[in-house]
Order: sequence, then C-alpha cells, then structure tokens
Amino acid sequence: MAKPLGIVTRYRTHLEHFDVAFWEAKDVGGARRPPVPGTIPMVSFFGDNRVAGQHPDWVQQGPGGERGARPTRYFDWDTLCPSRPEVAALALRWAEAALSGAGALRLDDVTFARRGYCTCSACQEGAAAAGLPLEAWRQRVLSNFVAAVRERAGARPLYLTLYPDPYPGHLARERGLDLQELAPLVDAFVVPLYDLTYSTTYWLEVLASGFRDLLGPHPWWAELYALGVPTPALTKAALVAGTYADGLLLAYGAKLPELQSVAAAVQKHFGESASP
Ligand SMILES: [Zn+2]
Repeated sequence: MAKPLGIVTRYRTHLEHFDVAFWEAKDVGGARRPPVPGTIPMVSFFGDNRVAGQHPDWVQQGPGGERGARPTRYFDWDTLCPSRPEVAALALRWAEAALSGAGALRLDDVTFARRGYCTCSACQEGAAAAGLPLEAWRQRVLSNFVAAVRERAGARPLYLTLYPDPYPGHLARERGLDLQELAPLVDAFVVPLYDLTYSTTYWLEVLASGFRDLLGPHPWWAELYALGVPTPALTKAALVAGTYADGLLLAYGAKLPELQSVAAAVQKHFGESASP
C-alpha cells in the first residue's frame, strides 16, 4: 500500500518534490518564521524559551518544585504550563496566526514535560476546582486545548506530535495526552523516531509496531531524522518504520538528491503514492 512521504524542512527549494512539506512556523526557541504557501506550519506550543524568559512563573514545575527549563537536567528547552490561562490564550493566538492562510496545521509540544509534571499553582488550583486528580486534570487541559484548535481549524487537517513512548498508559499519565479523546480531534498523529545514524533498526521496529498497536486504525506518521544520515541507513529505517506507519516524514535533510533517493525506494517498496 502506498505511503505518502513528506519532509520537515527549512529549505524552500525542497518543498515541491514531496507529497507534503512541514515548515517550522515557531520553534521551541521562540523564533517565528513567516508562512510559506503550500506548506503545513508547525508550531511549538508549550515549549518556548523566549516566553519562559519573560514569564518565569509560567514554566512547568515538577516534583519538589523542579523547574521544567534548560538549567534543569535533561531539559533541552523551556516548557510552559498549559494550565495557565495566559499560556492557553497565547497558544490559541499562535494557532490562529498559523492557521491564517494555511491549509493545515501541525501541533508540536502539546504536552506536559514528563512524569510528575506539572504541579504548579495553576495546575493544583485547576484540579481542585474541577474535583479531579492532577493526572486527569492535565489530560483535560490538553484535550480542551486541541478541541479549541480544532474549532478554529474547521475541516482543515490537524496533525499532533506525540512523544515516542507507546508503552501503555505512559502518554496519558506522564504527558497528559488522552489518545481516546485526542484521536477524533486530529487527522493524524506524528511520532518523531530520531537517530543520528540508524545503524540499528530493531528499536525502531519496536516503537513503530508499538504505536501501530496503540493507535489501532487511526492514522499516524513516523518522522525520521535525515540530516547527515547515510542514505542506505535512512532508506532501511524508512522501510522499517513505513511497515507500521501510514506515512513517513524525513526531517531536516539538506541534500535533495539523497532525500529523493529515499523517497524513490519507499515508493518502490510500498507502491506509488496517491498524493500529488
Ligand atoms: Zn502547571
């Protein structure tokens, strides 16, 4: 069965050569880029170093008051708490701006940071007022956010990025993502399964098949890291992931002929794509 193959790119010259192209409209650093017609904007919603720097009290808090920000171990960017009304309002403005003139939208970093996050005052007070445990509260907050974006998107396709952890219950308990609630709101999930070399692929198969089991018939795309990865290894990784995913994305690859070579191998293996 054909697999659509797209790219995540910052190169305008690559856009026309693939089924779909995702464009970073706002990244975790807080940098915003003007929209590019024909691309799907990606917006980092609850990761933003710039906003966190201006509003330190909006940052997610973990157990013992640990801050979900770069100075803390294992944090590569600063998180924002979706329970904060100011953050939620800002995120919806970003969604509206990205949807303006776009045919689709990808929601990135719609998540709580990790196990035990967030325990800030907004989360505590929100959960208490709703009569919910914190875990259920976090799931409600993120489901409500995605539902509000869906309202604004109308029938336009929505993609939602998931942390690559298909272990049963983890996305709900540790990230605030209730897949049962979210699946009807989005057209496809996107799961980044990144490696710098793909010199082995057994783990890729474990994760990809895990997501297939977890999501059932709901569409999902595997996103592979392409920058500097040898083409034979990237091709093999694409064929492994494509066995379980409904679509494939190659992210940040710089060399167009190499990306096209992977796309050709995917087409040969799975059949011609039905998309343009
Ligand atoms: Zn919070």
